[in-house]
Amino acid sequence: MKIDDLYQEIILDHYRTKHHSGLREPYEVEVHHVNPNCGDEVTLRLRLDGDLIADVSYEALGCSISQASTSVMTDLVIGRPVGEGFDLHDEFLALMQGQGNVEPDEERLEDAVAFAGVARFPARVKCALLGWSAFKDAAIRASGASAPTGNGQRPGDEGS
Ligand code: ZN
Repeated sequence: MKIDDLYQEIILDHYRTKHHSGLREPYEVEVHHVNPNCGDEVTLRLRLDGDLIADVSYEALGCSISQASTSVMTDLVIGRPVGEGFDLHDEFLALMQGQGNVEPDEERLEDAVAFAGVARFPARVKCALLGWSAFKDAAIRASGASAPTGNGQRPGDEGS
């Protein structure tokens, strides 16, 4: 089996059977992100337990790449410290912005390496990043909300 076929199969599997799909309670932060280029939408809820990502639930609409990528993202980040979630986001972002020249680290990114080929198609990169961006936004808001900084500023509130 060629590697592209294998990657395609992984993406289709996640699209057909989305992991952690559906909006669950309780949650601390809910965000809604859209990718107008393709018409993808995701509503994502996040719950932190101290420093751990206790749950990420979502409702995703749109193309197979955006939905599958969101499913893969939840597999990777749930149960991890929020800082590691940000690191994984950054690694996936680097892969997507690499135009196909970045070698993915399968130990770290697991099924997310299947999107390596998507990086060669700039129009689809935003599809693959939608769920990850929503996760990062929610995690920034949730950590800001629980951190007792007391200055009333919420990181991630940058209007629209
Ligand atoms: Zn899309």
